Amino acid sequence: MGKTTRGMPEATGGAAAPLTAFSGVGPKKAEQLAALGITSVETLLRHYPRRYEDRRQVRRVGDVLAGGLGEGEAVVLRVRVLSVSAPPFSRGGRSRIPLRVRAEDDTGALTLLFFGATWLRNAFSEGADYWVYGPVRRDLSGPVMVHPEFERAEEGKDYGGIVPVYGLTAGVTQKFLRGLVRQALDGGIGRLAEEFLPPEIVTRHRLAPPDFALGNIHFPENDGALRSAQYRLVFEELFLLQTGLLWVRRRERGEGGIAFGRAPSVSEFEDLLPFAMTGAQRRATEEVYADMERPAAMHRLLQGDVGSGKTAVAMAGCCKAARGGHQSVVMAPTEILAAQHFAEFSKTLGEGAGLRTGFLASGLAAKEKADVKERLAAGEIDVLVGTHSVLEPDVVFARLGFVVTDEQHRFGVAQRLRLRDKGSGAVPDVLVMSATPIPRTLALILYGDLDVSVIDEMPPGRKPVETRFVDGTKRGAVYDFVEKQLRKGRQAYVVAPMIADADAEEDMPDSRDAPENDNPCGGEHRSLPSAEGLFAELSERFRGFRVGLLHGGMKQREKEAAMLAFVSGETDLLCATVVIEVGVNVPNATVMVVEGAERFGLAQLHQLRGRVGRGAERSYCVLISDSRAELARRRGETLAETNDGFKIAEIDLELRGPGDLFGVRQHGIPELKIADLAKHLKVVQAVSEEAKALFAADPELTAREHAPLRKKLSQLEAIG
Ligand code: ADP
Ligand code: MG
Repeated sequence: MGKTTRGMPEATGGAAAPLTAFSGVGPKKAEQLAALGITSVETLLRHYPRRYEDRRQVRRVGDVLAGGLGEGEAVVLRVRVLSVSAPPFSRGGRSRIPLRVRAEDDTGALTLLFFGATWLRNAFSEGADYWVYGPVRRDLSGPVMVHPEFERAEEGKDYGGIVPVYGLTAGVTQKFLRGLVRQALDGGIGRLAEEFLPPEIVTRHRLAPPDFALGNIHFPENDGALRSAQYRLVFEELFLLQTGLLWVRRRERGEGGIAFGRAPSVSEFEDLLPFAMTGAQRRATEEVYADMERPAAMHRLLQGDVGSGKTAVAMAGCCKAARGGHQSVVMAPTEILAAQHFAEFSKTLGEGAGLRTGFLASGLAAKEKADVKERLAAGEIDVLVGTHSVLEPDVVFARLGFVVTDEQHRFGVAQRLRLRDKGSGAVPDVLVMSATPIPRTLALILYGDLDVSVIDEMPPGRKPVETRFVDGTKRGAVYDFVEKQLRKGRQAYVVAPMIADADAEEDMPDSRDAPENDNPCGGEHRSLPSAEGLFAELSERFRGFRVGLLHGGMKQREKEAAMLAFVSGETDLLCATVVIEVGVNVPNATVMVVEGAERFGLAQLHQLRGRVGRGAERSYCVLISDSRAELARRRGETLAETNDGFKIAEIDLELRGPGDLFGVRQHGIPELKIADLAKHLKVVQAVSEEAKALFAADPELTAREHAPLRKKLSQLEAIG
């Protein structure tokens, strides 16, 4: 059992073979399989088992009956069918009387029951041997197995070994998938069997060969084989991810950049600011300036919690670029954020230092846009602030030297490259700003090639946001408190996990990826609070105040209008989903209420909390949750205890895994099929070190022993 014959000669490279070539797969089945992402031998074999059932131990009926029926645990039996008694077909099709199959081995007998499955009568032949698998229990007639898995003994490949259990979809059963995987493994797996990892790495980490790994991940010969198959595949997946990023970005490195002059110094720049920089801001600015003064192009990630003052560092870069006669561009993910930046840049760099600033966003009138583009091309704008609009091909710079992207995780690598390519001749320096603290492990993978500056200190005088975790019985009191704040002229946010009642959690792509065993509600399916529901309710409750609504189901223009109304103070209370923008500054907002808080990940809650506490007033964050689940409690406690985004991100990674972390996919990294960034920390580190050493020694992978890897990465790159 578990042995797969491979290595059959096959000219076509079986990996890409369509599944319709397999027996049992017609157009309909192919469509059903496609719902699982299975469209070829390769995707089939990469559909790794979710878990395994250990069916190595074949039990005897007598032993199971004597031994407390195996405590309700599923057991494998090998039995001979004595009799099959089917209820008469009823007109309605389904009978409530079950199909009864009497079966025995040398030690005892039992009955297999199948309800509403009269058609199964023909699956059993009296006198024939079968494998059955399921829990045994006792009913009035004696010991029974209800709806066991079964198979004729001579065909029963799914018994007597370690058996894979797959994620399924409608129309596709375990048995069918297992059979298909067997066919694929037996038919030859072509290039999937080729080793592409560098031999020295395979040796150093004692990695199993690919064909062994693929065979044993599906049908493990034993526990040890399963472990080494898993290790190999986890290593391989992380290694491809890491080297893939380094491969794509290798072109960003080392090309001729601009060596900016020494002026201004950090302290000269600081004089332009209305405040003294924090030590962390100064340090980050020194790092940016040192990079800019070097001839190589800068690639730096600036990480800092919400409100830590990243903008000042970006301004410093723009200032140095302008002094050197170059233009800068600052790209923000939304128009509101871009507008806020523009106002700030115009004030500090425009009025303060005489730089010419420009603004570009799709909302502008055609004439205004044309005017900005013209001045930009003529070199009459020093700093352009805008949205995605700045990426358009007709946005031409006279001499672009410095590129800033704010809240990087919303932009892909490709967009960053497009901006950089707007430089004429020399490659501009690039600063990527992110307000989402990223745990070290993730940073290693995501930004393996970027230099990182961290602002780990808040501007002085910032009062920490007072955070409370309460249950639903306190809602009345919470909203009384909100009202008090509103009466003082403050504003408040109320955030819900869903858009509308009984709606899918559309705004939370993150939570959809949450592991299935992680149901923070602890199984209770209360109706969850929704933004629209709260909007209706709170509009009543807060008569005399102006209540706004903002969620992902609204059109972009409506969203911007709702946000703008809140920014300008037209609305007092904003009912929203998580779409409220990262980075938007509403200093007058002092309360953040999160309803259904158990539905949010830690990092997300921290981000939400960051929307308040941006002004001089004391601010509050209230997390409302009826879930007593341990997880929800720990999250609440963590938030109440610490304000440190990095620490929170680490704990979040530990608690929930990366699926929940501000949407790993937003970073442009592909879905991981077997590796788990939280669980496989050590492998991540090992892989990261190996990958970096590899590229340091052979940046273009031209060495002969790296040819297979080079080929693999080029293929991946071609797919995108
Ligand atoms: P973020 O890192 O979230 O982008 P910002 O750059 O928007 O943070 O800064 C948040 C607020 O703090 C802004 O109003 C900014 O003017 C102010 N600020 C930044 N640095 C300092 C500082 N060193 N001292 C006082 N206020 C500061
Ligand atoms: Mg910001």
